[in-house]
Amino acid sequence: MFEGISLAPSLACLRHGGPLRRRLCLFALVLSLWSATVDAGARWRVVILPGADPTQPAVAIQIRALRSALTAAAPDGVEFYTDSLDELRFDTNDLTPQFLALLKKKYEDKHIDIVIGIADFALDFTRRYHNDIWPNTPVLITSIDESRIARMPPEFAYIAWHFDAHSTLALAEALQPHASKLVIVSGNTAFDEFTARVAEQAARSRQSREWTVSLWSGLTLDELKTRLGSLDPADTAVLYTTMYRDREGRTFFPFEVVAPMARASRAPIYGWFPTYLDQGLLGGAVISYERNGRRAGELAASILLRKVSSNGATLPAEPSRCIVDRAQADRLGIRSALIPDECEQINVPASLWNQYRGTVLFALAVVALQAVTITGLLWQRRKRRLAEESATLRANELARAARISSAGELSASIAHEVGQPLGAILSNADAAGLILENPEHEVSELHQILADVRRDAVRANQVVQRLRALLKKQPVEFVSLDLNATVDDALALLAPEARRRRIAIESTLSAACPLIIGDRVQLQQVILNLSVNAMDAMQETEAAKRVLTISTRPSEHGVELMVLDRGHGISDAIRSKLFDSFFTTKTHGMGLGLSIARTIVESHGGRIGAEPREGGGCAFTVWLPCEEKSRLFAPHQHVSDAARDQA
Ligand code: ADP
Repeated sequence: MFEGISLAPSLACLRHGGPLRRRLCLFALVLSLWSATVDAGARWRVVILPGADPTQPAVAIQIRALRSALTAAAPDGVEFYTDSLDELRFDTNDLTPQFLALLKKKYEDKHIDIVIGIADFALDFTRRYHNDIWPNTPVLITSIDESRIARMPPEFAYIAWHFDAHSTLALAEALQPHASKLVIVSGNTAFDEFTARVAEQAARSRQSREWTVSLWSGLTLDELKTRLGSLDPADTAVLYTTMYRDREGRTFFPFEVVAPMARASRAPIYGWFPTYLDQGLLGGAVISYERNGRRAGELAASILLRKVSSNGATLPAEPSRCIVDRAQADRLGIRSALIPDECEQINVPASLWNQYRGTVLFALAVVALQAVTITGLLWQRRKRRLAEESATLRANELARAARISSAGELSASIAHEVGQPLGAILSNADAAGLILENPEHEVSELHQILADVRRDAVRANQVVQRLRALLKKQPVEFVSLDLNATVDDALALLAPEARRRRIAIESTLSAACPLIIGDRVQLQQVILNLSVNAMDAMQETEAAKRVLTISTRPSEHGVELMVLDRGHGISDAIRSKLFDSFFTTKTHGMGLGLSIARTIVESHGGRIGAEPREGGGCAFTVWLPCEEKSRLFAPHQHVSDAARDQA
């Protein structure tokens, strides 16, 4: 425990000094012992004894893991010393005396807290010599096969591992359901022979498959490659254990042999060492160097922290994990469905999904967003179309209602207009009766009377027909028409009312007007609205000036219709509101006539305007495109302000 601490001066002083001096010397001795104890407890000194070359990946991984586990647990850091004889590649019988002498000399004055031996050589060496080099120092042996535990001195701590040849063969049986030949490949060191034996015993004791086993031990790499190349992959599996040396004495780190073997072999290669993965190994029940090293470090730390006694301290062997190299399986034509579920798969070829998951998700999100947007837009469009259809319907109904209203205004005079011919017919019928009572009546006179009756009946019928045409519920129909004829129809309806109101109607219709495209009834309604308004405006006008003038003439792009009156005119204040829905200055007005007129005119691709007339009154002008220009403008039904407001 106190090697390296010089107690000689204190002991000499204790033997030869006086009482006071001896007390001081005793104090110095206690101080020396205490400081030695504190020093040993504070900073751990650990010797690592790997049997193999410490740069071999299998060893290096374990050392790194155990060093980091120990360092993490140490209260004041760790000093590591690593000594290797590389027994797997050198003759230890020859070199052991010198190696022993070297270690003795090296650690003669150095206190060591624990010795950690890795694998078989470390076990054999420490078992024989640890008391010579590090007396009373705890020893922990790791990475030995379970079968070696029996050789362990009782005061040693240890962690064994388990070469899971059975599970590795079970994997081979799963991946190669028809294979019956097993080739076990190994080198010819003692350790190689040991691992080959483990594999062979497992193969021969398999219940699930009767393997025909061939042992290829110590072949040179070239021999091995040639033989592997001739194997039948359908019925043969290769189990590679270790090859530290071939029969010609060439040495290897066992993992280095896997890649050339895999390149040459037509049959799958299995094994249980993790360093073989990524070299061409198909898979196996693989041990973990990293976990094994870490557990060794943790057990050593527990011993040094006095949590456990080093005598016989142990941790159970770590279970191995089934790992399959998917890229190798694909290369060898082994179906992925054969890989047992519990096996971890490495080198899984990246699927499009794995490779571009982010991009694919982003693209899907964009497409989904687009789909939602498009659906939303289509839904909105449909809603708008339905709203437009319903608005158009309402507008038409409203226009018709307005027509009925106009007709109502004209009804008294229209009734009079119909009454006149009917009265004439009645008078003529009476006259005919009187004529017939006279036996010498003139037939020619009767003919004349019947002609008059017919003329009057036609006249009355025409008035009724015009009224019916105006009020009939019918779809809007754009046809080629002569605006003058439409004006004539409207005038026929207006004439009786004008007469009743003592208003003269003057019409100047230009024969040069081109045809237009429009709905006859709607345009008639425009003329009626403008004319009735004009007559309303002239209510207070002196009789001589009561003239309603309606004219048409060709304009630059079509036809110009003017409705002029000598009424009260329009002030600047109301001029801008004239065409607004529900704007009225009349007591019983609805304020829809002009708004509907504008909607109709605009739906015909035209314009409407109003301005005060020189000399008093008002002039309303409607411009409508001629047939040719109309074709550029697809006629359609506009939604009137009133209809829009209602919607
Ligand atoms: P309403 O005739 O029911 O009032 P309109 O939309 O046809 O509805 O007319 C709106 C308003 O425009 C009328 O109330 C009137 O003040 C004014 N107006 C229309 N035509 C004339 C006109 N020829 N002369 C003067 N004012 C007019």
